[in-house]
Amino acid sequence: MTGPTGILAGKRILVAGVTMDSSIGFATARFAQEQGATVLVSNFGRALGITRRIVKRLPAEAPVLELDVTDPDHLAALPDAVREHVDGLDGVVHSIAYGNPETLLGGKFLDGPWDDVAQAVHVSAYSLKSLTMACRPLLDQGSSVVGLTFDASVSWPVYDWMGVAKAALESTSRYLARHLGPEGIRVNLVSAGPLQTLAAKAIPGFEELDAMWETQSPLGWDNRDQTPTARGVCALLSDLFPATTGEIVHVDGGFHAMGA
Ligand code: NAP
Repeated sequence: MTGPTGILAGKRILVAGVTMDSSIGFATARFAQEQGATVLVSNFGRALGITRRIVKRLPAEAPVLELDVTDPDHLAALPDAVREHVDGLDGVVHSIAYGNPETLLGGKFLDGPWDDVAQAVHVSAYSLKSLTMACRPLLDQGSSVVGLTFDASVSWPVYDWMGVAKAALESTSRYLARHLGPEGIRVNLVSAGPLQTLAAKAIPGFEELDAMWETQSPLGWDNRDQTPTARGVCALLSDLFPATTGEIVHVDGGFHAMGA
């Protein structure tokens, strides 16, 4: 008898941050299943009901766990909630971000209030540490944590405080790589180009970024196709990058490497 095949055959993966089938997390969950993984997904609050309906569209319906990454009780309960379905994890995907679009984004940088900035950094950056630490008892040598960023090495139009939160996420990922490397746990990010997801549509003026990608990506960029990004995430979850950690892999049509 043969088992599942694919680059994630036999791996158990938690994808945190699936709301719609447009979510990068959804495309990641789908491709991971196609590559042989057993997938659990999580989301929080009012959108949980939507997530429970959306996972029926995956090749195999995935269990949905409730996880608000800012809630210490949810984080503490996560290992037991995961163990109801699988006995450990080989991969964790952090596909989560939030910044108040009314106060922080769309050109509001100079007036962004601290409480909202603090929330954005908590949900979008600190949570990579919280989620990883919550999962730590489930992770073993060779496991992989992957998050999603939008290149924070430069400033962008309209992205404003979310850009700062992403810079914090990128740094958090490097420090996690440092501290968890000795346990054989890799931590990497995929830096995706603009994609038409719920989070992106909430950013006033996001189409400005879309337009830049259209003209400057040498490979071209389809902002409705989450699959290349999902494939990048799954490659980092797989055993194909055994000596890579603290890295940011760009899945952006090559945009980041062009000066103009
Ligand atoms: P999305 O579908 O809206 O996913 C974001 C997820 O974060 C949602 O499921 C959202 O849940 C969840 N979330 C927000 N606050 C949370 C909390 N406190 N606890 C747990 N989950 C929470 O949008 P997406 O574009 O796929 O975003 C996924 C990741 O990719 C984000 O890190 C984003 O910044 C990154 N990214 C996106 C793009 C892009 O252009 N779309 C480009 C580069 C990187 P609710 O829906 O319930 O709020």
